[in-house]
Amino acid sequence: MAARYSTRPKRRPKPHPYNNFSSEFEKKEYFDTEEVLTEKTDQLVQWIRESHHCIVFTGAGISTSTGIPDFRSGVHTVLPTGPGVWVRKEKRMQPPPQQKILGAVPSHSHMALLQLQREGLIKFIVSQNTDGLHRRSGVDPTTLAELHGNTNMEKCLKCGVKYMRDSWTRTARAVHDHLTGRRCDNPKCGGPLVDSIINFNEDLPEEELQKGFENAELADLCIVLGSSLRVYPAADIPDGMIRRGARVVIVNLQTTPLNKCCTMEIHARIDTLMEGIMKRFGLEIPQFQLKRCLAIEVTSESLTIQGLDPVTKTPYSFMKSVKVDLPSLRSEHDLTKEPFYVKFPRHVSPSEGNALTVDVTLAFQGHYGEPEITIKHVVSKLGSTIFMLKFDVATGEWEIEKQ
Ligand SMILES: [Zn+2]
Repeated sequence: MAARYSTRPKRRPKPHPYNNFSSEFEKKEYFDTEEVLTEKTDQLVQWIRESHHCIVFTGAGISTSTGIPDFRSGVHTVLPTGPGVWVRKEKRMQPPPQQKILGAVPSHSHMALLQLQREGLIKFIVSQNTDGLHRRSGVDPTTLAELHGNTNMEKCLKCGVKYMRDSWTRTARAVHDHLTGRRCDNPKCGGPLVDSIINFNEDLPEEELQKGFENAELADLCIVLGSSLRVYPAADIPDGMIRRGARVVIVNLQTTPLNKCCTMEIHARIDTLMEGIMKRFGLEIPQFQLKRCLAIEVTSESLTIQGLDPVTKTPYSFMKSVKVDLPSLRSEHDLTKEPFYVKFPRHVSPSEGNALTVDVTLAFQGHYGEPEITIKHVVSKLGSTIFMLKFDVATGEWEIEKQ
């Protein structure tokens, strides 16, 4: 199932990548009155309660409150992020700074979706966004399809392993070049790595697309949050649900080509709507915490430190460097290359009465200003230990939990 990312359904000719400018009519923003929004929120909450398989379909609009601009907002938008990326191109305005994405804090809406998913009220999220904020919010990646890739993910062309990075993975300049110049973290593989961004007229990742369409088939309710629904085949998800008579609710300040045939359109800021939904369910919106996971593996000969995704436990690079201090072996190491590896000067056989002390100081990429921390690891037997680290963005403090 090869499907290409374009602004038209697949049977129509391919568009030029810059043919994405919307008309002035399409850029117009609408706001439901408070009274209308109250009624619509009540109705939506009732539909969520009645649904058996509710899915959420997100576009750039869900991330604008985090400071990341969308694509199609007009020059006169009410959004603090200002005109969208396409509009900036059209008007020859400065592009938005990319760095913001890595330090963005998931919005109230991202965090509300996490809680609704934990409560079983929504079953799946399909996102067109590459900002990775759903994953950073803590959503289980198996219940998420990122149709257009993720700016933080690299894939190995040889062994297929996906690596999450706390850095911008794309280095290629040519549109359809995706090689990052780096090699697989697994020294035995060493295959070339590619970024996972999908540009216009490129194939969508089949696995993600399949997960998205399978869930859309099961779904009896789809809530579209902040998508212009002009990019196909992504828009086929709500479009197909409308065709088979399932409920589709479209939330957007602008109008979309599917508004005329959807079950309900809501013109409001997404965070405002989500806060209303959570209130009606009596649920708190969780605070964002930056979660990092780390494995320290000790064998009789060596020590390896590996960053992991906190949910899937797959490789995740978020450390700039690691300092390892082994006082009993009188050995200190400054490591800058992953996987962080230290060969002991002599064999060790730690036990309860003869523990090996390992002080590990981690330096992070620091997109959230997270300071270095030192983990004092007392090793009383060989093997791997997992540490869960939680950083409170508001207080600037780390919490370390050994698992
Ligand atoms: Zn590989």
